[in-house]
Amino acid sequence: MRQHIPYGRQNITDDDIAAVVEVLRSDWLTQGPTIAKFEQAVADYCGAKYAVAVSNATAALHLACLAIGLGPGDRLWTSPNTFVASANCARYCGADVDFVDIDSQTYNLSVLELDRKLIAAEKSGTLPKVILPVHFSGQSCDMEAIALLAKQYGIQVIEDASHALGGSYQNQKIGSCQFSEMAIFSFHPVKMITTGEGGMIVTNNPDLYERLKQLRSHGITKEPHQLQQPAPGTWYYEQQALGFNYRMTDLQAALGLSQITRLDRFVQQRQFLANRYREALQTLPVMLPNDDAYTQSSFHLYVIRLKLELLKRSKSEIFEALRDRNIGVQIHYIPVHTQPYYQQLGFSWGDFPIAEQYYQEAVSLPLYPDLTVSEQDVVIRCLEEVLQ
Ligand SMILES: *Cc1c(COP(=O)(O)O)cnc(C)c1O
Repeated sequence: MRQHIPYGRQNITDDDIAAVVEVLRSDWLTQGPTIAKFEQAVADYCGAKYAVAVSNATAALHLACLAIGLGPGDRLWTSPNTFVASANCARYCGADVDFVDIDSQTYNLSVLELDRKLIAAEKSGTLPKVILPVHFSGQSCDMEAIALLAKQYGIQVIEDASHALGGSYQNQKIGSCQFSEMAIFSFHPVKMITTGEGGMIVTNNPDLYERLKQLRSHGITKEPHQLQQPAPGTWYYEQQALGFNYRMTDLQAALGLSQITRLDRFVQQRQFLANRYREALQTLPVMLPNDDAYTQSSFHLYVIRLKLELLKRSKSEIFEALRDRNIGVQIHYIPVHTQPYYQQLGFSWGDFPIAEQYYQEAVSLPLYPDLTVSEQDVVIRCLEEVLQ
């Protein structure tokens, strides 16, 4: 039996392992000097001023929403074509969630639809406090247009860039926060670089930066200039808000710091493989990812859409036939508003038809830096077979 080819997989080298071992032998296992180095490396890479490392991207989203003051009675709008965490972060803060349907070409939140929905929301007094665009598969949303609308209505923008570390928009790295208050990244093993579990928030705003650091660690500060009461001694710390323990360990930061030195190579390799897919799949009854002149995708995912009207088999038959051939295809994403939890909150099938139509047709093919050309050729051959 041929070996299973997953849809995504981490790349770990001896240098990565040595970097983690070095921290294990050091004095600091958590919240030590390696965290600060990793934060600096990510901020420098993205061209942002500040970065705050946390335990995962879900925690990063939660803290970003808290830091911006999202709370009960507020609304956050995001894309229905995302992982549930992009919406759940608002619910953690007691805020309401709504969705903006996607663009049928990029699968990102549609700016046209956003414009329409904002006009209606202004009339009904239901404008959101936060818009959270998701750079699906690593391709940037049209941030300039989103920022323009956000400014017009006094809305804050948080980017869910979980897929997009290493991608760029208008020749700037995603995470520069030129068009947003904050951007967040995930270091889950299938993402662009990994720390096992891990996340990061980047921002150019010093107040948000201070708040994020406090909320990450119980709402506690020891910084003399931040204390609200006189310090009776050097042991003194203050809890000033209800924070969490969302800290990343130095072990994880060491892995991330070692990984980020290879990020550009990872992106290049993913783009190389994406180009090979593009050439090989051109004549098949599938729609390929679009190419937008303003963005350079990190290619976290390679999603094709089946032209079902030209095919004899259903999507689930094609999906299972590929799985039977040991091809680890995946689906990104089941529209968030159709999850039972969100249906309980009042959403239903039919609410966001473009995202739903996309979901009926979308299949993610294996794509990761260590995918060999011959493994990719196996994926292509199997796809040709099952689409016959
Ligand atoms: C992976 C992912 C998250 C959550 O990341 P974790 O680090 O696993 O918490 C959030 N949003 C999107 C779009 C993701 O792909």
